[in-house]
Order: sequence, then C-alpha cells, then structure tokens
Amino acid sequence: MRRMVMFLIALSVGALQSMTSAQTNRLQIHFMDVGQGDGAILIAPTGETVLFDNGLLNHCSQQLTYLQSVGVTTIDYQIISHYHADHFGCTTEVLSRFPLQKASLDRGGSYASGTFNAYVTKVGAKRQTAQDGETITLNSTPPVIVRIVALNGNGVTTDNENDESVVALVSYGNFRAEIGGDLSGFADNSYADIETSVAPKVGQVDVYKVHHHGSRYSTNTAWLQAINPRVAVVSTGNGNTFGHPTQECMERLHNAGVKMYWTEAGNGVPPEDGVDVVGGNIIVEVPQQANRYTVRTTAGTPTTTQFDTWLTASGTPTPTPTPTGFAWSKRSNIYHVSTCRFVTTISPDNLQTGSTPPSGKTLHKDCPK
Ligand SMILES: [Zn+2]
Ligand SMILES: [Zn+2]
Repeated sequence: MRRMVMFLIALSVGALQSMTSAQTNRLQIHFMDVGQGDGAILIAPTGETVLFDNGLLNHCSQQLTYLQSVGVTTIDYQIISHYHADHFGCTTEVLSRFPLQKASLDRGGSYASGTFNAYVTKVGAKRQTAQDGETITLNSTPPVIVRIVALNGNGVTTDNENDESVVALVSYGNFRAEIGGDLSGFADNSYADIETSVAPKVGQVDVYKVHHHGSRYSTNTAWLQAINPRVAVVSTGNGNTFGHPTQECMERLHNAGVKMYWTEAGNGVPPEDGVDVVGGNIIVEVPQQANRYTVRTTAGTPTTTQFDTWLTASGTPTPTPTPTGFAWSKRSNIYHVSTCRFVTTISPDNLQTGSTPPSGKTLHKDCPK
C-alpha cells in the first residue's frame, strides 16, 4: 500500500470564516460550483486573485454571486485553459463586474467561435500567450507561485481542443495544486495522451482538479501514480449531456485512494456513498507556514476536513508511510487495513487503530483498497 491514511479531522463548521480580498494569513483556492464547466478563484494571502477559467456561456450568475460573497473585487490574473465555452464563456460577465488588472493568459492562437471573439474583445491588450515554464509570483511569505507547465499538447501533435489545455501548478510553501482544464490522458477517439508527458513536470501534488470533468479520456493511471494526489476536485454539472463524471475515471481515482470532492452530482456515475463528497463550492485553504490544509464544502451539510501536505520543506516527496496496521470505527462490526480509503470516512470520535486486528470484527471486504 503506497500510503497511510492520514489524520482527517472533521472540524465543525459552525463559524465559516469571513473572507475578503484584503490581506489574509492563508492561501485560498475556491473551486466554484459553476455547473457544467470549470471556474476556480485563487485568493493569495496578499489578497491578490488569479481566476482559472470562468464558467459556462450563459450560466454566469452563480460565480458572480460567489465571487462577490468571498470579497473579490478585482481579478489580477486570469488563466484560460482552452477555448471551449464551458471554460471561458463568462469572460464578459465576470470581468465587467470584477475588472482584470494585469493579464489574461491563454494558449495563444485563435478559435472559430463567438465566445472566443467575445473573450478577445473583453481582455483586449491584457491578453498574453502563456509560455511553458512561465511563473506568476504573488508576493506573500512564502510566495504563491503559479507555474505554467504545459500548453498546446506539450509537444504532442493534436487538434483536439481539450488536449491543448494550459496546465498550471500552484505552489505555496509545501502545498501543491494542479489545475489543467480538460487535458486528455488517452490516445483514443480523437484525443491524444498528453497527461503522461506532462506528469514529470508536475510531480507530486496535494490537490488535483480532475481534468475534463471526469471524462473517460482523462486521468490515466500513469498520471495518477506520478502526481499522487491526496485530494481531487471534480467540477461537474447536474444534468450535463456528456455523462460526466464517468465510471472509468472515478474508478481510477477511487482505486488510487484519492479523497474526492464533486461540485455537483453530475450526470454520469453516481457519487459513491461515504467516498465521494458532493459539496457545491469546494474551498481549499492553506494556512501560512503550515504543513496542512483544509477542504471545505458549502452544499448539503457543509464539512471541513483537514489534510497534511505531502511535501517536505525541500520540496522532495515525503517517503510513502508504510501501513501501521488496522483501523476501525468503534461503532462498526468491520475493520480495515489502515490504508483503506474508507478509513477516511470514520469520524475521529469513533476511530480506533491497532497493530493487530480487533477481536470480534470482520475485515472489510474491499480491503486493502
Ligand atoms: Zn473542453
Ligand atoms: Zn470542459
């Protein structure tokens, strides 16, 4: 087993912290519930903002309300992953309300659509073609660094727009997150495998924004092994016509033991009870100088869960902990190998562990998994 289950602490969410785009002592990444599309806002400890995609054409009201509710007043940088209307269809609405200050980075080139034309018109002279290896540094201590690690297929020839997605890696102290639009991981049905070549440029991450809303063509096994995410966020919309997220993609993530957060239940494979959290807006917060972060949800019964970061201060991966034994809920008649992903769903109040199996309980049928 390649990882030990780490110390999930379900915290009470009685007091949701109020957030403003003034200075804070933490990094926030809000994966907004934008329906069938992508839209995430990074708020640096300095209050600076980076918008990663802005949502689906003609479905912009949720993110306008949300951005205002978290205190955003302006967008410093916008990064557009690719030119599908579910990723940059709200450029006009969002930037009219929250003016762009510095630059909008995209994959360059052109695209035959009215949505693309509206984007180019709105960002005007602030449009910039992203460069592989380019960084945006937000000057907190430690700095928030957004590094562009791939775009336009990363050297693989393709004319599938999803394959061309701009891939960004966010770093803050020991925390890493990857946001890569609709990048593909399978050479099939007009898609190309881009993920495999990008993986070494990303390395291990704490949080992965699942590519392409959980399409079967995203998130291949080599990619997952390389980036080894602790938490993954699927941005999916109820009633989408693509069957997202797909069973194939969710199974790969489940089998890798990744803790899953979905913005909505989508219209593909249903969320798995006790494993997939359907949470509306999914908010990742990383305190300054901390080796941990929290993931907070806003829909249904809001939850906050704490995770430890994967990386040491030197940026090298922490050795994968070896399983120490077994874990179980004192309220249940089954027990788990401690690496089993279901251990993460046991309330800390009920969690018990041991180096030998508990007496009188039976091993969970899916363990170790
Ligand atoms: Zn796309
Ligand atoms: Zn998309």
